[in-house]
Amino acid sequence: MGFERFGTVSFTSKSKVDHFVDLLDQGMVSGTRCKECGKSFFPPRADCFNCFSAEMEWFEITGVGDLISYSTLTYAPTGFEQDLPYSIALVQFSNDLKLFGRLSREIKAEEIKIDMKLRITSIKLPNDRVSYEFREA
Ligand SMILES: [Zn+2]
Repeated sequence: MGFERFGTVSFTSKSKVDHFVDLLDQGMVSGTRCKECGKSFFPPRADCFNCFSAEMEWFEITGVGDLISYSTLTYAPTGFEQDLPYSIALVQFSNDLKLFGRLSREIKAEEIKIDMKLRITSIKLPNDRVSYEFREA
């Protein structure tokens, strides 16, 4: 299974990290970690840009992160117009792991605060597609 099932709009169908979509389907949001230098990546990468190793392992992203920055969109790129309005966020989970994604619609605009605690979770979209989002912890 490839990236054709990821998100509202897929810009690629095949990737070296297709397993990300299988894991989302199983309810896990995952990144990759370099077995050589230990650097973590999200979105997952098949190769380490730090030490150029291709020896990577998957890990599930768990726990609670802090909201660093966000933006609420009232205009969207082509293909995302039906989703408006939505908020995108940068969330820090550990020293070397900052995650980018959407905030859940369950969080009202007036409730969004810098430093709020968030978890990341897989979600099912219409048409058998999968993605992930941040929810209040
Ligand atoms: Zn590395």
